[in-house]
Amino acid sequence: MWNIQQSYIDGAFIPVHGHERLECINPTTQAVIGTVTLADREDAKRAIAAARQAQAAMKRTSKAERIAMLKRLQSAVLASTDDIRDSAIEEYGAPFNRAQWVSQYASQSFANAAQTLETYELVRRVGSATVSMEPVGVAALIAPWNSTAGTICSKLASAIAGGCAAVIKPSELSALQAHVLAQVLHRAELPKGVINIVLGRGSDVGDELSTSPHVAKISFTGSTTTGKLIARAGIESMKRVNLSLTGKSASIVLDDADFDTAIPLALNAAFMNNGQACVAGTRLLVPRTRVKEVIERLKILVEALVVGDPHNPATAIGPLVNQAQFDRVQGFIRRGREQGATLVCGGEGRPSDLSRGYFVRPTVFADVDNEMDIAREEIFGPVLSIIAYDDEEQAVAIANGSVYGLQAYVFSRQQERALRLAARLEAGSVLINRIAPELLAPFGGVKQSGIGREFGVFGLEGFLEAKSVVSE
Ligand code: NAD
Repeated sequence: MWNIQQSYIDGAFIPVHGHERLECINPTTQAVIGTVTLADREDAKRAIAAARQAQAAMKRTSKAERIAMLKRLQSAVLASTDDIRDSAIEEYGAPFNRAQWVSQYASQSFANAAQTLETYELVRRVGSATVSMEPVGVAALIAPWNSTAGTICSKLASAIAGGCAAVIKPSELSALQAHVLAQVLHRAELPKGVINIVLGRGSDVGDELSTSPHVAKISFTGSTTTGKLIARAGIESMKRVNLSLTGKSASIVLDDADFDTAIPLALNAAFMNNGQACVAGTRLLVPRTRVKEVIERLKILVEALVVGDPHNPATAIGPLVNQAQFDRVQGFIRRGREQGATLVCGGEGRPSDLSRGYFVRPTVFADVDNEMDIAREEIFGPVLSIIAYDDEEQAVAIANGSVYGLQAYVFSRQQERALRLAARLEAGSVLINRIAPELLAPFGGVKQSGIGREFGVFGLEGFLEAKSVVSE
């Protein structure tokens, strides 16, 4: 049983000022595995003050110094990937393979940022001006629970590359993961105050970060609802705000696709991270003439999925994060039936061989209309909707018929045809015949899936501000 009651501020682990205690429940066993005392506004203020002090020196760091910091962070995270992976499995039921990938991606983020900074021109001539790309200032990095180490490390990597001290606010559902990560980042021995981690509620710690006049930049990943609150709160002090938000991605299978590879990949895109992924491809768009075949294929694939202990590398689907998320997903499955979709497999309740844990039955619906709740809203669980289309024109209209636009997937044997379709999709990223992202390419959403881009050069520039000096 672990008990976390410290924040990481100014290079040290210090007792939190806050008093609210939360029990942490392992979603696989429903056993209480630890407690956390949440930080409050006062802790956030201390962290901001430490970052502010560190920012003075951070602003003056050279490229070489920042790269050295990034390399130390990379080594520290790389040395602890197993601990990072295990904390995600323990705390939110991340399937082993996903947790492993995220922990490796966390260390790779620092290597990618170092590589990006290496060739980036921080000072350049534009006409008669000298333009310097200066650090934007103290950055607040606010993360969700479904990819704690990945989100925090990729944001932190860009912040350090940009010369910004950071205050990190992980989700209150990520106490163990944040604690493990804080110890790992501490081992990189960055100057005091460059990294601060305060785990508390969004309504006080998050709000303090969003409203403080001493925070210049917010890089947020989470729901669209929270993103709107942050954008509104931040405008008063004119914060630079980057928002990576909710998705409702479409996977378009064209009639010429290789269905043997496309359908398993599309299923994977939908159910990755137990369906709790912003980029989950939860709307599967299929030519109407091939729907029957796709249903048969999916039935076989879903029945073969291992649902259970996330520690087992063979497990495809572990539990959902908590009771509230379990109940929410059950509600969507119920509404799917009520609104007229046809259940292909799965349904309400727990898988019959599991007597505890927040496990849901991997569920596929057919005859889904793009206006049904299951097609419009982000479910954040393993629930896939098959939507039939008559021609490419209609497929594009359905895919784009969402207020969200984070990612889309296209499956086709003809590269040119897939590229033409990709060009018409309203999404920040389109993946063709693959579901693995390119981590140096810009990532972010259009429409209500966000503002701004992360990763690579675009991620770095999110922490920089151009200053022009013009002289005779
Ligand atoms: P959430 O919006 O509930 O919380 C995210 C973070 O914001 C948490 O740390 C939370 O404490 C904080 N927060 C809450 N209220 C706040 C406020 N008023 N001010 C400041 N901070 C506040 O999201 P979640 O449930 O943790 O994560 C799931 C959501 O995140 C999904 O919608 C998912 O699509 C999205 N997500 C997006 C991406 C992406 O890259 N686009 C990646 C992962 C998750």
